[in-house]
Amino acid sequence: MKYIDFKNIDINDENFNNQDLKIAGNIIKSGGLVLFPTETVYGLGANGLDSSAVKKIYLAKGRSSDNPLILHISDMDMLNEIATNISTIEHKLINAFWPGPFTLILTRTSIVPDIVTAGLDTVGIRMPSNKIANKLISYAGVPIAAPSANISGKPSGTNISDIFYELSNNVDCIIDGGSSEVGLESTVVRVIDGIPTILRPGKVTPEEIRKITKSVKIDEHIFSKFSSNEKVLSPGMKYRHYAPNSKCVLVYSENNSLLVNKILELSNKYNNPLILATTENISSYTDKNLLTINIGHKDNLNEIAKNIFTSLRQVDKLNPDIVFIEGVKQEGLGLAIMNRLIRACEYNYISI
Ligand code: AMP
Ligand code: MG
Repeated sequence: MKYIDFKNIDINDENFNNQDLKIAGNIIKSGGLVLFPTETVYGLGANGLDSSAVKKIYLAKGRSSDNPLILHISDMDMLNEIATNISTIEHKLINAFWPGPFTLILTRTSIVPDIVTAGLDTVGIRMPSNKIANKLISYAGVPIAAPSANISGKPSGTNISDIFYELSNNVDCIIDGGSSEVGLESTVVRVIDGIPTILRPGKVTPEEIRKITKSVKIDEHIFSKFSSNEKVLSPGMKYRHYAPNSKCVLVYSENNSLLVNKILELSNKYNNPLILATTENISSYTDKNLLTINIGHKDNLNEIAKNIFTSLRQVDKLNPDIVFIEGVKQEGLGLAIMNRLIRACEYNYISI
C-alpha cells in the first residue's frame, strides 16, 4: 500500500512535485482503490468506468448494492462522457456550484456501469474543488467513483487517523491531505419538473440555490424515516448512518438555558452520560462533573460541521451509557448538520 503524505504540502506552489499523484492516478486507472481527500469528506475512490474496480468499493465499505455512488470529475469534457440531456437549469447550477461541494443527479450515458448507479438511469456527479482531488482525477483520466471513506453506517471520514484501521487493509493507496475543509458530504440535488430538489443537504444551502434558480425544494425525507413501501429518490437516505455504538439523543431549543437544563436533567438519570456540547455551554456540564466533547462555537456552523464526524467517532472510544447532543438551528448549513445528527441519533430527537 502506498502512503502519500500531503498534510503539510502547498499544492498551489508552482514547484509542487506531482509525481506521487501521478502514481495514485495510475493506481486508479489500473483498477486499484485510493483513499483521497476532498473538500467535503475523504473519498474511497476507484475507476468509475470499471465495474470490477467499483465492486471493490462496495466490498471494502460493506455498502448495500442498491446504494449508488457519485462520480467525481475534473473537467467538463468528463461530464459530457457520462451525462446527457443536461437542461438549462442544470447548466446554471453547474456554473454556480462547480467545482465545489455540490452533486447533481443527471441522466447517465451508456458508458456508466450499472454498478455505479445501482441500476438507475441517473448518475450523481460532482466536480471537487480540492486541488489534490482535482489533480488525482485528471491524472487518472477517468471519472472517479467515490463514496465517503468509512465502513457503511459509520460516520464519514474527515481525517486519515479516524479511518486508517477500518480501511487501510483494503486500499492500494492513501493520500493524507489533513482535515477535510467542510467536514460534511456534498449537497445532492436533482432537478424535478424544473425545480432543484435537495435530496441530501450539505454545504451548499437551499438559500444559495434559490438565488441561482429562483426556486428550490427540500425532499421531505431529510428529517423523517422511510416507510418500507415508499419510492426512494436518494437510496442512501434510507440506511442507518453516522450512528455511534452508544444510544444518542439529539436535543434542541432556541432558548439556550432551556436546552442546557434539559440535558442536565436527562443526564441525571444515567451513570456515565456523555454530552456533545457547543463551546459556550461546556462549563455548564463540566461543572457538574459530566463528560463532554466540544463540537465548536454555537454561531460558527462551519466549525461545527468540520468537527461533527470526528466527534461522533470519539464517542465510540469513550463508550458512554448514553450521549446527548446539542442541536443547532435548522437553517443554512444547520440543515445539513441536523440531518446528519438526527440520523446519528436514529431519530431520537427532543425539540423544546
Ligand atoms: P456517499 O457517497 O456515501 O456520501 O453517498 C452518496 C449519496 O448520493 C447517497 O445518499 C446516494 O443515495 C446518493 N446518490 C448517488 N447517486 C444517486 C442517484 N443516481 N440518484 C439519487 N441519489 C444518488
Ligand atoms: Mg457515505
